[in-house]
Amino acid sequence: MELESKTIIITGASSGIGAAAARLFASEGANVVLGARRSEKLEALAETIHQTHGKAVFLAGDIKDQGYADALVDLATHAFGGLDGAFNNAGTVGEMRPAPDMSIDNWLDVISVNLTGAFLAAKAQIPAMKARGKGSIVFTSSFVGFGNGGMPGMGAYAASKAGLVGLTQSLASDHAIEGIRVNALLPGGTITPSGGEGNPAALEFIASLHPMKRMASPKEIAQAALFLLSDRSSFMTGSPMIVDGGISVRLT
Ligand code: NAP
Repeated sequence: MELESKTIIITGASSGIGAAAARLFASEGANVVLGARRSEKLEALAETIHQTHGKAVFLAGDIKDQGYADALVDLATHAFGGLDGAFNNAGTVGEMRPAPDMSIDNWLDVISVNLTGAFLAAKAQIPAMKARGKGSIVFTSSFVGFGNGGMPGMGAYAASKAGLVGLTQSLASDHAIEGIRVNALLPGGTITPSGGEGNPAALEFIASLHPMKRMASPKEIAQAALFLLSDRSSFMTGSPMIVDGGISVRLT
């Protein structure tokens, strides 16, 4: 039980990596607080967790709203008495186009969800962790924000994900003294709806970019998040942790 009695917020929990993390963290003893916009998906996931004797609550909303970030922390506090960790994982790919063809609306939306949304989440979470005297925050960045790996048309997405590494390092430096660790997780291509699931040509192309010649399962990425949220990573803060099947070294 790596997360016994720890209360952890997971954003982007309605799908892919976040849903896998919710199941895994709950199976490791965590009280999970599930966030995303699709309420019905969160409700179904919470029900699955309850059926396996796990503890889960959920609240639907948009990660771009500070009020929603605050409400998730309030829910964690009211349901479970405080907040120990957060997997700030919600994200969007947006339009995949070269810069001259990319709309400013897409640029602003991708930055708002992936970067501003993560900042708003941390802004709400840090005071609750400070009250606890410790905490662990994990942001889901991407290989695309670190070397790109050969993915075309990802200007806005890459900028948002590289920005998350800067945010991680700055928050880690500011809050280490308060016992709050902040790390970034940089997954490689992962088989999820955003990662091309249901599109065999996209999956084959993305897999081919990886030296391992395959993509990750959502659970493989969730396992790395579990490590960063558990006390096993107690001396890690400010780290961009790469879990990418070797795509960042492009050996082949
Ligand atoms: P996914 O299955 O499409 O999940 C994305 C999640 O983000 C969903 O739960 C979605 O929920 C939530 N979300 C999106 N916009 C939101 C908003 N405005 N407010 C609240 N929630 C929002 O994709 P995934 O691959 O698991 O993505 C998880 C994270 O991993 C993302 O940050 C992504 O950038 C990152 N990542 C993915 C890969 C990959 O290859 N799959 C690689 C590297 C990094 P709702 O639609 O219900 O709101």
